[in-house]
Amino acid sequence: EHTLHIVGGGMAGSEAAWQAANLGIKVVLHEMRPEVETFAHQSGKFGEMVCSNSFRSDDDEQNAVGLLHWEMRAANGLIMATADKHKLPAGGALAVDREAFADHVTAQLEAHPNISVDYGEITELPSEGMWIFATGPLTSPALGEAIAKETGADRLAFFDAIAPIVYAESVNMDVAWLQSRYDKGETEEEQKAYLNCPMTKDQYEAFIDALLAADKTEFHEGETAKYFDGCLPIEVMAERGRETLRHGPMKPIGLTNAHKPEDKAYAVVQLRRDNALGTLYNIVGFQTKMKYGAQTEVFKMIPGLENASFARLGGIHRNTFLNSPTLLDDQMRLKSRPNIRFAGQVTGVEGYVESAAMGLLAGRMAAAELLGRDLPPPPFTTAMGALINHITGGAEAKTFQPMNVNFGLFPPLDGLRGGRKGRKERYKGYTDRAKEDFNQWLEEQS
Ligand code: FAD
Repeated sequence: EHTLHIVGGGMAGSEAAWQAANLGIKVVLHEMRPEVETFAHQSGKFGEMVCSNSFRSDDDEQNAVGLLHWEMRAANGLIMATADKHKLPAGGALAVDREAFADHVTAQLEAHPNISVDYGEITELPSEGMWIFATGPLTSPALGEAIAKETGADRLAFFDAIAPIVYAESVNMDVAWLQSRYDKGETEEEQKAYLNCPMTKDQYEAFIDALLAADKTEFHEGETAKYFDGCLPIEVMAERGRETLRHGPMKPIGLTNAHKPEDKAYAVVQLRRDNALGTLYNIVGFQTKMKYGAQTEVFKMIPGLENASFARLGGIHRNTFLNSPTLLDDQMRLKSRPNIRFAGQVTGVEGYVESAAMGLLAGRMAAAELLGRDLPPPPFTTAMGALINHITGGAEAKTFQPMNVNFGLFPPLDGLRGGRKGRKERYKGYTDRAKEDFNQWLEEQS
């Protein structure tokens, strides 16, 4: 009777199956490949890396994704153990031999006495039994339809449109100021919901030139380049006419420069608060397919962002994901159908590591529920806790876009060990605090 069904043997589903099976739960792992293919996967193996062979930084003292590695290792994660076993020399990054990696994940799952594999596509959300859907950014079209029917079509996206996100503390407030257009809003907080960066005509013209000249990435083969109204990449808007941005997301009207009220800006870049903590701001309307290197160069031309530090850069990809802040509870269950959990990239996290981490949590949470135990999510001082807190509650639901792990999601250290310390010390403070709290969360389960 303690059976858990998991759909999708990617990063998240593989980890979820491993975690639940190790807790004594019988797991049936459903995978549509190789019978039904996606445009990115090449094999029928579990844990296939669809693009890069890197799990990014392995630095668990100075880097949030490195910290996530640490937490997954501490929780006996299959993805991390396999990555360590098949790692390749790559400086500070954790790169792996992708073939050996997928072979090992597949072999470990197939050999597990509590796991059985059922190849075939699942096209419905079952009303009976306990299920985890970890079907990823390329969730099959039939299942996507079934999910949209349950959630409402406006709460399941098929493309992301990610605007770059900056750390609030890195914005130069001698240049930028807080104000909503026309001071709209009931409360002072709402009237000052945006950070504004002014541009002169010369600065605007130079910025447009840089946008047009920047290196862009192409869509993958099979990933049809479909743009939606209101989601055009900024460089495409600039291509349509040099004035387009000035009449679109960069329009200067309804704003008064708090530092120089008599100056009329030629254009204004607006940044909107991205999380409840107020540590992160996204650049409004700046979704882009510029290459990462080009993005940091071009965006630093914006007055006020000369020294901006980016929590994530922009992008547009084929990506199936839920509006998790409205749809999922803090156990990653669909509020309208609590026998169904989601995990991985489909919940609105981004990246192999983040997807596997959400699989780890979903697997443990589902197992606990089947065993009649209570498993609260890890505290949001940890990387896993910060991520799950962001997608299920901390993020703005209206503008929700996929997120990778970063220190902006963590509660600030001020008043604890942080204060006004340098970045290196602060990051060490975050990771020390996270490790302590994560270990305690693990201990409470044993
Ligand atoms: P997946 O690993 O995709 O696993 C989902 C699984 O579900 C698949 O095996 C799929 O076959 C199966 N499935 C789907 N629908 C059904 C169904 N109806 N029934 C049964 N099975 C089903 N992240 C990075 O960190 N680095 C990168 O370089 C990177 N490159 C990417 C490139 C592309 C083209 C894409 C689309 C994504 C990329 N990502 C990358 C993002 C993301 O981290 C990975 O896609 C990651 O694999 C997500 O893990 P997941 O478990 O959520 O989904």
